Amino acid sequence: MTGRSSRWPPAAGGATLDTMAIIVLFEVRAAQQAGPGGDEPVVVAVHAAGSDPDVPEDPLPITLCGQDTAPMEHAHYERTAPGQPWHPPEFTDVRCPKCERALRGL
Ligand SMILES: [Zn+2]
Repeated sequence: MTGRSSRWPPAAGGATLDTMAIIVLFEVRAAQQAGPGGDEPVVVAVHAAGSDPDVPEDPLPITLCGQDTAPMEHAHYERTAPGQPWHPPEFTDVRCPKCERALRGL
């Protein structure tokens, strides 16, 4: 009616976080007969990989630290603001130091 545009600009402002899309991956260790009910996979490390240019939701075959991404689990974690850690905060203890260094060097 008034024609007032109240549309929130979804991607205004240009380059912010988007210098390189990264995908966060969990390296998991399947619980091997850890006891009754111990079938929860354990996250042993959090890695980062670049995203496939053709399939942005897919990681490249190799993490930033050079490991095979095939057996890893997609963490479905993304930074939502600048300054946030690249990994889910609850996994700070198991983040991969090599991946972290690679990310800082980008
Ligand atoms: Zn790594």
